[in-house]
Amino acid sequence: MSDLHLTLAAFANGRVVPIEAVPDPVFAGRLLGDGVAIDPADGVLRAPCDGRVVLLHACQHACTLETAQGVRLLLHVGLDTVLLKGEGFVARVAEGERVRAGQALIEFDLAVLARRGKPALTMLVIENGDLHPVAWRAEARTVASGDPLLKLVAADAGTQAAAAVSDESAEGWAVVRHAGGLHARPSALLAHALKPHAAAVELHLGGKRANARSATAVMGLAVAENDEVRISASGPDAGDALEAAITALETVSAAAHAPAQPPATARVAVRSLAPGQLAGVVASPGLALGVGARFDHAIGEIRESGEGEVLERRALEAALHAVVGDIEAAVAEARRRGLTDQADIFSAHHALAEDPSLVAQADALIAAGKSAAFAWRTAAEAQCQALVATGNPLLAGRANDLRDIERQVLRKLAGDAAALPQLPPNAVLFADDLVPSDFAALERAHVAAIVTSQGGPTSHVAILARAQGIPALVAIGPQLAEVAAGSVVIVDADNGVLDSRPTPESLAATRAEIERRGAARAQALTQAGASAVTTDGVRIEVAANIANAADAREAVRLGAEAVGLLRTELLFLDRDTAPTEAEQRADYQAVVDALEGRSAIIRTLDVGADKSLAYLPMPAEENPALGLRGIRLCLAREALLVEQLRAILAVRPLSAVKIMLPMVSDLAEIAATREVLDRVAREMGVTERVELGVMIETPAAAVLADQLAQQADFFSVGTNDLTQYALCMDRVNPALAARLDGLHPAVLRLMAQAAEGAARHGKWLGVCGAMASDPLAVPLLIGLGVTELSASPAVIPEIKAVVRRIGLAECRAAAQAALQLSSAEAVRALVKQTWPWLAPAAA
Ligand code: PEP
Ligand code: MG
Repeated sequence: MSDLHLTLAAFANGRVVPIEAVPDPVFAGRLLGDGVAIDPADGVLRAPCDGRVVLLHACQHACTLETAQGVRLLLHVGLDTVLLKGEGFVARVAEGERVRAGQALIEFDLAVLARRGKPALTMLVIENGDLHPVAWRAEARTVASGDPLLKLVAADAGTQAAAAVSDESAEGWAVVRHAGGLHARPSALLAHALKPHAAAVELHLGGKRANARSATAVMGLAVAENDEVRISASGPDAGDALEAAITALETVSAAAHAPAQPPATARVAVRSLAPGQLAGVVASPGLALGVGARFDHAIGEIRESGEGEVLERRALEAALHAVVGDIEAAVAEARRRGLTDQADIFSAHHALAEDPSLVAQADALIAAGKSAAFAWRTAAEAQCQALVATGNPLLAGRANDLRDIERQVLRKLAGDAAALPQLPPNAVLFADDLVPSDFAALERAHVAAIVTSQGGPTSHVAILARAQGIPALVAIGPQLAEVAAGSVVIVDADNGVLDSRPTPESLAATRAEIERRGAARAQALTQAGASAVTTDGVRIEVAANIANAADAREAVRLGAEAVGLLRTELLFLDRDTAPTEAEQRADYQAVVDALEGRSAIIRTLDVGADKSLAYLPMPAEENPALGLRGIRLCLAREALLVEQLRAILAVRPLSAVKIMLPMVSDLAEIAATREVLDRVAREMGVTERVELGVMIETPAAAVLADQLAQQADFFSVGTNDLTQYALCMDRVNPALAARLDGLHPAVLRLMAQAAEGAARHGKWLGVCGAMASDPLAVPLLIGLGVTELSASPAVIPEIKAVVRRIGLAECRAAAQAALQLSSAEAVRALVKQTWPWLAPAAA
């Protein structure tokens, strides 16, 4: 066995129980360390490996072993068994004795434990697990003594020393493909990819190196997108670890995972400012009027000196554990609500809270006599400074995430005394900067708007504010401090202005405008359940784009008549392993159940390019958007497709389900999929014919729509991809974001061709790309022949309201005129001119 790897065997016959399932918070919370438990079938505790008994408890119910590599293992028989004072226990070894793996350490009488009401559940805890993390663990099952149970890294995986004693080493290079380089989320992804491996892995760039498992250390290297980094791995599985690191580094960030892009609306106010007005950058558009309230990150006073190493270390461990628990809950809640951006941000925080470099630095300070809070703040601040010092604005921005974790941990250490501020109703929150956890803890109902003196439109808070529709202005500057808390202010986050001294006239005008917007929204909401029929009697189906059953419920509430796109890949983003057929079926069934009789178009897995799944590593591709993605991938890995089709065909009632294929570019792909679908249906005894539609999102599919319509049952235009492929503008490139407009005449002409092809064979044409959620695009889409609009649930009432105010004849005329124009701007101007009432909604 290698020096770097230690296998621990089952220390009793019985059933393996994960440590977190032990009904004692000290063990379950890993306050003593990581480990595992066994519910023993008989009364013998055996050594899990060779070692020396360094401690035998006076009550003989527990002992500690130390291995040659310095791993300290606590073995503890039963819960609360110390109270038995030795009754029912016989030690078979003495303190100081060397033992071999499998040797009996303690014998205990299960009947005595049962009679005295003490559970016999027996725990193994790695006391110095921070130095020897678990690299592998056996599943919960019944084991016999001696069966492999855990594999530990038996030396600090990040150290030179580990590299020096390793028996295997490997080296390679990777070109970093993550948009924006190795910022928080890709660094967290890398750390996550290395978790199953024991080898020490380092990244090297420009004479600097970093432990690849430490997100903060990796961020400190300031690796930019397309930088080539060297990777060195040493340890028992160095080759595999190297491969995992290269795949993680070369995987292209998903769009939603890419560094936040400035929204198209982000701009600094250009109009001249009146006295009392301050210019800021729009992070989330909207208009608000409210009372200024200063946000205070109360974390109490921090003592420098500690109250003893053990106490302080335990306090820090408990705080970190609690923060990780909070983050996990926040991730789960965000996923449940379909807020994938929010979930991703919190997932990256998870990695920071477990960052080995940070924890090691704090530990060293604690060992030097500092308090846990002082040690943690010092370690985190040092890392923040290092990030800022890189000079890379994106990484400097991520220092904000680290500060977030810093504050969360400090708040836990300070206890509940560090409560969050009470906000007045309708608060306009003033802060230097906010971090996502501050945001999550706010009472949403009380927040009218957010204004910060620092920050930028790419910050995570900006993403969160946009997701929740809270107007936000950032980078106002130090003058924000001069605006008195308690004063009534106007936040015009459409034009980038904070008015700290509004006149009675502007207050009245703002109130009126907010009321008008609110009334329009309320009016649309009251009609949300009614169908959308044009003024000349043409019914347009307004459906929803969703990611899960929670979205489906929300969509129904907001008036969705069906689901026009279920992005199945989003159901399984936060997993390490592929979902089973049964899990997939349950998720699809939950969506159909939530729809209460409405139908759902389930799109087959659309991974590749900007969407990646942790459990489906993709080989690096030079141009992934033009690579093995969507239906191409599913046909190349048929087992994936078969499993998904089986899960879909098992949903009841099957009549509520339609299947749709992404990224189709020719007839052969539909034919091949239909063949697989028919075969799967035969095998399952399904006789009902399920509709099979295709997305029109490649120019090839639009141009060949008349051919595709011979076999496809329906079309839905994916305007996001169709626009990127028609204009040759990457949809994840922030520099092109403002020009990536689906109303470009080239895209409209492709849609016109698709509509013609569909009509020739009597097939219907829908739109499920973002254009269906843009009120300004709606008349043109209808004019081109679209009869189904699948939009974000939140905008469904508004989209229906737009449909009810337009007539097919004028839509057709405008669409024909638009096809002759030469730019997206000209098309937008035409729409605004034809339907002036649409202009404010789209501003
Ligand atoms: C599209 O491309 O417009 C679409 C709806 O698919 P996605 O955004 O999931 O690629
Ligand atoms: Mg697409």
